[in-house]
Amino acid sequence: MAEALTHPLVKDGWFKETGTLWPGQAMTLEVKEILHVEKSLYQDVLVFQSTSYGNVLVLDGVIQSTERDEFSYQEMMTHVPMNAHPNPKKVLVIGGGDGGVLREVVKHEGVEEVTLCEIDEAVIRASKKFLPSMAAGFEHPKVKIHIGDGFAFLEDKVDSFDVIITDSSDPVGPAASLFQAKFFELMKNALHVGGIICTQCECIWLHMPIIKEVMGFSRKLFPRVEYGIITIPTYPCGQIGLMVCSKDANANIKEPVRQWPKEQETKLCRYYNSDIHKACFVLPQFAKAALEAGEESK
Ligand code: SAM
Repeated sequence: MAEALTHPLVKDGWFKETGTLWPGQAMTLEVKEILHVEKSLYQDVLVFQSTSYGNVLVLDGVIQSTERDEFSYQEMMTHVPMNAHPNPKKVLVIGGGDGGVLREVVKHEGVEEVTLCEIDEAVIRASKKFLPSMAAGFEHPKVKIHIGDGFAFLEDKVDSFDVIITDSSDPVGPAASLFQAKFFELMKNALHVGGIICTQCECIWLHMPIIKEVMGFSRKLFPRVEYGIITIPTYPCGQIGLMVCSKDANANIKEPVRQWPKEQETKLCRYYNSDIHKACFVLPQFAKAALEAGEESK
């Protein structure tokens, strides 16, 4: 019989997620079985089966997705920018190696091609094996996979995409460059006229300085910039944000310009609907005040 796998972050049957981006607090999940442990070229890859959240993907000690709650993040990161765009045909996903955003993008029938640029093939490989419900999108005929750094991929791209979704890990390690002003400039150049970007943008309870910084340089590059909220139990404080920017000064990102008929929307989505598209941009007072203060000083 094969020996049971071990990992330094799993002790006494519990995984504990500590990190410098959430000092003094830690998410813990009870572990049924460790399924995969690997040191890839870029990061420590861990997959375990939890007792309450299904299989869980962890990179460098940080939870990336769990089978139970991933849909909220993947659907919002995808359908908010896609439905804020009148006719997205060419889509780029940066990061997103678990395949969840791809799975959502291909629900939009008008999409002609979606390219995924993920730095770490080990994440795709582990996700295909242990998170098959997320990785389903990899097999779609409209999907093209590029293994490489998202920043480098964008350097020579001009006028190429309608929507770019950056589904990155936190701004440490390989994803640090994806939170820089230069990266946002590259995304802007890679967009068609009227294009939209959506990037993972951290938590209002923990990361207001990061959010303000990203919003500050985004406002210098794009005429429309909005921060929205996603609830998700297994990300720090149960919340993560999305920063959505449009090249079209007349676009109202906060309202979907396209929507599925209600019956179809219910079949396709478990978290996203056209009401939550609008509602996610309504911020609690402390966050609203902090981000409006940034707007005045731009
Ligand atoms: N939103 C999730 C979170 O915050 O936990 C992220 C999930 S997704 C699995 C993040 C992916 O981004 C990882 O697979 C990681 O390898 C990839 N990634 C990190 N830096 C990258 C870069 N510079 N270029 C392309 N992909 C990158």
